[in-house]
Amino acid sequence: MEQAATVSGFLAPQGARVPFFSQAAGFTELWPRVEPLLREVVDRGKFSHGPLVAALERALASWTGARHVIGVNSGTDALAILLRATGVGPGAEVVVPAFSFFATASAVVHAGARPVFADVDPLSHALDPDAAAAAVTRRTRALLPAHLFCQTADLGALTEVAERYALTLVEDSAEAIGMRWDGVHAGLVGAGGVLSFFPTKTLGALGDAGAVITDDDRVAETAAALRHHGRFGATVDDFPAISTESAVPGLNSKMDDIQAAVLLAKLGTLDTAITRRARLALRYTERLVGCPGVRRLPTLVRRDVDTTPVFYVYLVEVDHRDSLVRYLAAHGVETEVYYPRPLPLQPAFAHLGHRRGEFPRAEKACACAVALPLYPDLADDDVDRVCELVRAFYGGGGA
Ligand SMILES: *Cc1c(COP(=O)(O)O)cnc(C)c1O
Repeated sequence: MEQAATVSGFLAPQGARVPFFSQAAGFTELWPRVEPLLREVVDRGKFSHGPLVAALERALASWTGARHVIGVNSGTDALAILLRATGVGPGAEVVVPAFSFFATASAVVHAGARPVFADVDPLSHALDPDAAAAAVTRRTRALLPAHLFCQTADLGALTEVAERYALTLVEDSAEAIGMRWDGVHAGLVGAGGVLSFFPTKTLGALGDAGAVITDDDRVAETAAALRHHGRFGATVDDFPAISTESAVPGLNSKMDDIQAAVLLAKLGTLDTAITRRARLALRYTERLVGCPGVRRLPTLVRRDVDTTPVFYVYLVEVDHRDSLVRYLAAHGVETEVYYPRPLPLQPAFAHLGHRRGEFPRAEKACACAVALPLYPDLADDDVDRVCELVRAFYGGGGA
């Protein structure tokens, strides 16, 4: 903190604010493509689970290579639905990473099962295969790795663990649109995965939306029923739900056609957006490499197979993280701490009795990691400014 105060003393007057996320500029360009689709939704008067949702599902199936895409309300719902559709339920344990977004663990609870935590790999920040294997018990039914920030978990080793113990591999690929493992889209290496279209995600809606993706016909059929009050055999455009039978207690997790309209329009720019993200990430790395106080820049782990990374989040691990966050905020730069607390130490899981020190790598990431702004609208100059501020904070100058 003293460091921040001293350094800010000789900084030039503040530049423009750098928000953590914005899509205002990009959306202006997109608006002519979105507007006719929105009109179509309003004119038709079918606002959820309608033809635009079906069109988006087809478009995403073709973009990802998934045999089935099932549009739902959010990535969180998609995870709970996917777990139930793969047969996870009461009495089962699911091995999840100790470091991830909260939904990775809460979805297991929503499916009626119990999350069992395992530590993560320090480079990919994803479920460590050896730690996952060590967490397996007689009740374990599934492994649920999360692919975070820019690359997938070690899907080769995790597939081996799943095979060794006859477990289902399901993937929290909520952040992973565009990421591939040996040519296969994230979420499709195991029994199924999910996509989140939360606005900040690589493909973001103007509100909440998500999807289940799978190559398995039965998983798809069950997931499609679960999102819609347990109706089996209903196609997206079927109507109304009220007059038909529910085979299982399902949810109302249908996707809005307005969000499908936005996503359909945006899907046309997804490749460009991913390229832009990669450029910006490279620019950060070029400017931050060797910066004192910055312990770790995003590191793409070499695998035995071809992998495709996608920069969703530019995460660095730094000294004096909280002071840096405050310093950047004081200079108009917003950051996010992904993720502030190991999942086993969340109050919601207090009853499991986990203690500090049990998941050292997750704890270290929670203490040191911070995400810098990264989105297609971000200007090169914004990246430069953020990096100058980071260097100034650690007393390394603008170098
Ligand atoms: C965003 C995210 C989710 C949840 O997605 P929502 O659409 O926000 O519900 C789940 N897991 C991970 C790893 C995520 O990043």
